[in-house]
Amino acid sequence: QPSGKKGDISREKSAELYAKAQQYFPGGVNSPVRAFKSVYGTPLFIERGDGCFLWDADGNKFIDFCCSWGPLILGHNHPKIREKVSKALEKGLSFGAPTALENELAELILKNNKCIEKIRFVSSGTEAVMSAIRLARGYTGRDKIIKFEGCYHGHSDSLLVKAGSGLVTFGETSSAGVPQSFADETIVIPLDDTKAVETAFAQFDGQIAAIIIEGVPANNGLLIQEPAYIQFLRDITRKHRALLIFDEVITGFRLGFEGAAAYYGIQPDIITYGKIIGGGMPVGAYGASSELMGHISPDGGVYQAGTLSGNPVAMAAGIAQLSELKSSSFYKSLHTKSNEFVEAIRRYTAAKNYKLKLFSVGSIFWFAFTDKEQIRAASDIDHHSMEYYKAFHRELLNRGIYFGPSGYEVGFVSAAHTKVELEKAKRAIFESLDEVFR
Ligand code: PLP
Repeated sequence: QPSGKKGDISREKSAELYAKAQQYFPGGVNSPVRAFKSVYGTPLFIERGDGCFLWDADGNKFIDFCCSWGPLILGHNHPKIREKVSKALEKGLSFGAPTALENELAELILKNNKCIEKIRFVSSGTEAVMSAIRLARGYTGRDKIIKFEGCYHGHSDSLLVKAGSGLVTFGETSSAGVPQSFADETIVIPLDDTKAVETAFAQFDGQIAAIIIEGVPANNGLLIQEPAYIQFLRDITRKHRALLIFDEVITGFRLGFEGAAAYYGIQPDIITYGKIIGGGMPVGAYGASSELMGHISPDGGVYQAGTLSGNPVAMAAGIAQLSELKSSSFYKSLHTKSNEFVEAIRRYTAAKNYKLKLFSVGSIFWFAFTDKEQIRAASDIDHHSMEYYKAFHRELLNRGIYFGPSGYEVGFVSAAHTKVELEKAKRAIFESLDEVFR
């Protein structure tokens, strides 16, 4: 049945708050994509979340598929996390000294993960990756790293680098303030390209410390790689005695408790975590074999520290969340639910012949306004197609569905998305697409 045009949601309070925020923060925000620059309207200021729902300052209610950009695999305000955090709060917020909670979270992770033997907690994904890179450099005694075009690894200097022109390039800084000499240590290569990696190793023989790749690249669309390609990266790094780093800030505890490493059945040398590991609190981590981690200070010469590392309140949130994820049935049911949701949208868009593909893995999905059957490299994304996403995002908000404010961002299904809400979301998505393609 025809959906009919929906009026825009009221944003009066959000607009007021945004005006104020612009006096205080660059762009009115504390992280750039929140500024809604690539979608319609001013950013929504969030009042609270519960389960799969978000409420903004104007009282609009949304089914949330952004999930704080990934951490909230159990949904908002989960009672078990709240309870554990409240208990930790009663004892104090930070001690700058070891606590039993750090052991508890480490044990929970290491006992259920075959890929790493030791772990170090930090306070963000950025820190985790930055430290992993330093470890790789310290361990190998080499300076260069390979990263892939379209992978995001946080905002540390050597990773804020984009591809230059040409197959294998020294990076070009993608941010003002990053010295070109730093970017020169980062080699940027297109995803899904074996030749480029071989060329890089030939060209920089004995100089490459590591290849870093996202478990499944999910920051520039969802660029699902063939397992054979990941295996190739494993083989070529071994051959050249470089390390393979899986950045699992998104995929860790998302594709399964053991993340992308177990998903592919491939053992990387270092794994980085963030997002889900902290249950919504600021936690990141990196882990590796005991031998490799033995190079971290104070055991070894690679320095890394943090005033709030292993913060007890954050550890408590992580423990409560990860405890819920340990059973394989958790992921089975999340993935089944996600797959049914995504498949229904695929059927609808195919029946309507809309120029839209949904790429998905586990509970991660991405709307790509394209005819292409596969998108594996950043250069396969048509940037003009983001205009469709802009229109789609507005229609979705008007129908009570919240997605990340950029067409390059993926959506997440959480355990809190019930069948009923997914059904509602599906209808709203169908109606929104009808409007976009009208
Ligand atoms: N690595 C990946 C794969 C990410 O997706 C992100 C953030 O989105 C980061 C690293 C940086 O994490 P954080 O934002 O916690 O610093």
